[in-house]
Amino acid sequence: MSSPPRLPHLLGLEGLDAPRIEELLERSRLFLPAAVGHAPPPGHHAHRMVANLFFEDSTRTRSSFARAAMLLGAKVVDLLESGSSASKGETLLDTALNLQAMGFDALVVRTAASGGPHLLAAHLRKPIVSAGDGRHEHPTQGLLDLLTLQKALNSLQGRVVAIVGDIANSRVARSDIHGLTALGADVVLVGPPTLVPAALRSIADGPGRVWIEHDLDRVLGEVDALITLRVQMERAAGTGLAGDFRAMYGLNTFRAGRMKPHAVIMHPGPMNRGQEIESLVADDPTRSVILQQVTHGVAVRMAVLDALLAS
Ligand code: ASP
Repeated sequence: MSSPPRLPHLLGLEGLDAPRIEELLERSRLFLPAAVGHAPPPGHHAHRMVANLFFEDSTRTRSSFARAAMLLGAKVVDLLESGSSASKGETLLDTALNLQAMGFDALVVRTAASGGPHLLAAHLRKPIVSAGDGRHEHPTQGLLDLLTLQKALNSLQGRVVAIVGDIANSRVARSDIHGLTALGADVVLVGPPTLVPAALRSIADGPGRVWIEHDLDRVLGEVDALITLRVQMERAAGTGLAGDFRAMYGLNTFRAGRMKPHAVIMHPGPMNRGQEIESLVADDPTRSVILQQVTHGVAVRMAVLDALLAS
């Protein structure tokens, strides 16, 4: 099988076909031993420099992009909104053009604005990697979720994955939907009608199917994996919903006990323990793969940076 043409940027999983996604996942699997410190860091991108532009808060994504770049041998400069000239009114594009003019080799970008990384990709010569843009996509989270699911379930073909919670405001859900359906998994979106708009049913091209269910208890026994999401309060979602949301969609031990024996539980973080997920479920070593997701994130980000820096 010939490998797909070079990837210029990674802005989303929408539009990436199965061979492209599989190629990135295969590259991630090769990097996994180094990501967890069980193999020497490859270090072959020494002399490369990556700018990490995080104009929205982050714990896992920012630190794992930094670790990934450093394991590849690259140096990393972190730029946050406060402390950069963004706080003086400089636009994202001007900031990025300045970093390109300094000679950075790639820009990892998180913005509150959906489409921010696309804007930069249209104007810059250097590779742009989206680290999450507004409510739109979070492609490396999507890839690390796919890697985690493949490790837990092997092939994703014909598997059923539930994504539960604030789908409307979740960039993770969008990337997961595109990635999962491209690899042949079916996706059921679960949440209240206000947080699961009907239009989401038709956002992906397949071959996997997408459908919507408002009653979590009806799908629990049918799924091979369940990805639970927090309500995105910073996007003004779910005001006044907390108690009802927990009762209707919170993942507790009773609900987890009704899932198939092999089914796994995932969360992209940050978790609101006691809200969308109970601690006993989040920390259950037999079902929860939440920390494996985090580990896989380093390998996936190594794979993405490696692919983009290779040119
Ligand atoms: N960390 C993920 C994101 O940046 C999920 C979340 O914040 O709920 O989208």
